[in-house]
This record gives sequence, C-alpha cells and structure tokens, in this order.
Amino acid sequence: MNRDKWRELQGQFPEFKVAAYAECGDGWYGIIQDTFRDLSGYGFSGTVVQVKEKFGLLRIYLDHPEWTQDDTRKLCRDRCSLTETLSETTCEACGDGTAKRRTIGGWLSTLCDACNEKATSK
Ligand SMILES: [Zn+2]
Repeated sequence: MNRDKWRELQGQFPEFKVAAYAECGDGWYGIIQDTFRDLSGYGFSGTVVQVKEKFGLLRIYLDHPEWTQDDTRKLCRDRCSLTETLSETTCEACGDGTAKRRTIGGWLSTLCDACNEKATSK
C-alpha cells in the first residue's frame, strides 16, 4: 500500500501500534480501516504486527498485551477472520466489491473485472 495512505491510516489509531507498512494493494484501505475501528472499539491496545496479502486474501496479524482478556482476543481474532472473508470479494487494486480471486501469472489475486483486464493486458 502507498506509504502516505498507510501513514494516514496509522495516524487515525493512536491507541495501538501498527506495522510500518502494509504488503497489499490500496484497494483494501477501506476494509482495513473498518477492521481497525472495530478493534479499537473492542479495546485492542497491542500491536498490529503484519498486514499482508497472502494467496489473494488479506491477513492481519495481531499481538496482544499479556493481560488481554480471552474474550477480547477472540473478538479481535474473529474480526480479522471476517476481514479475510471480505477480502475475497473486495478488489485489492480499487476497492470494488465485485472482485473475484484469480490466478494472474501464477499468483492468486483478488481483482474486479476492470482491474483484472488492466493487469492482464500489460
Ligand atoms: Zn478493481
């Protein structure tokens, strides 16, 4: 993700630490922002260790402070799973909600039809 965009997102959540960069496309900005907002609501105060695309899906890895209660851990874990599910249909390039997972040049990518066309016509 674009560094400036990422820094802007980090700045919106001073209550927890966020990895220095995100290894995914800008199109997932919205679903990451929604996730962070919910994590904040659950009282998450640890570190977002990693945000990355893996096999065409968005993975968010968290590290909780030791004293974090089990129900908070579970809420956060479930929320990150939901984000992974949402990323199956959210275009990694533009954020469009009609994306599909596709194999492009041997790599799995989640793109909408328009972005897929752009990616494959290069
Ligand atoms: Zn797209």
